[in-house]
Amino acid sequence: MVGAIVGDVIGSIYQFEGLKIKNFDLFTGFNEMTDDSILTMAIFSALEQCEGNEAKLSTIAAKEMIRFYTKYPNLMGGYGGLFVDWVYRSLKKYRIQPAYNSYGNGAAMRVSSVAYFAKSLKHCKELSRKVTEITHNHPKGIKGAEATSVAIYMALHGKSREEIKNYVERHYYQLDKSCDEIRKTYQFEPSCQKTVPQSLQAFFESTDYEDAIRTTISLGGDADTMGAITGAVAEAYYGMPKWIEAKMLKCLDSHSKVIVQRMILKREGIKNKGSKAISIEKEKSSNSKYKRKDKGDGSI
Ligand SMILES: [Mg+2]
Repeated sequence: MVGAIVGDVIGSIYQFEGLKIKNFDLFTGFNEMTDDSILTMAIFSALEQCEGNEAKLSTIAAKEMIRFYTKYPNLMGGYGGLFVDWVYRSLKKYRIQPAYNSYGNGAAMRVSSVAYFAKSLKHCKELSRKVTEITHNHPKGIKGAEATSVAIYMALHGKSREEIKNYVERHYYQLDKSCDEIRKTYQFEPSCQKTVPQSLQAFFESTDYEDAIRTTISLGGDADTMGAITGAVAEAYYGMPKWIEAKMLKCLDSHSKVIVQRMILKREGIKNKGSKAISIEKEKSSNSKYKRKDKGDGSI
């Protein structure tokens, strides 16, 4: 989750650049948090409030996203148009409006905290669905968030890159293109299905946290969102370099800093407890739910 915010802050200045190189400045003095960071914080805040009793998680996550949006309405790059519309309709009617069938990559960019609150892989998938289906209820949106959450959860609990990749390939996406191949033709893509597999591939080819961020941004896509997705998995797998975390904190306002400090405490708490061995083989993917007819009527 902190790794997602770092990836977003680094990617913020490259989000419409279509960068194709790895040798770029991580921090320039113009880096800022964008919607990826803010909504990651909103989901984290909802999970904190619901820890131990998740009956109202979906409602609280929706309320927190609206609350964070109204506190930070003018971020670099803006928010997704359908999300903004959903926020204003909800505010106007004093009631959370129904989900808008999105498969946009916003589902994956904001979900990382669920892996830190989950008690099992199955629980991780349940939490992922609860915080996603409030807006991104298209099967491809649910799938993109779950693939991201599961990769983070497995990384956090000591699974190897190979094990994570095999699981993702078995249950979510075919990962048959290398980053060098993707880079040749890839461009800005707002959907889960054209962002999450590429972001995960960048992690699978990386050598450390910094290299993961450089690799994903060098693919030339939605840089801040890919930074958030890849960064979240890379943080769980490699840990976060202190100097990068410190540089990111300097880009935040005081309110956000407090939330990120709480995320750091949560992360360190899990590290100190030690990751538990998880049996991924016994847990069936809920991916069968995605097999229902996809009429391609989702929205970004
Ligand atoms: Mg963004």
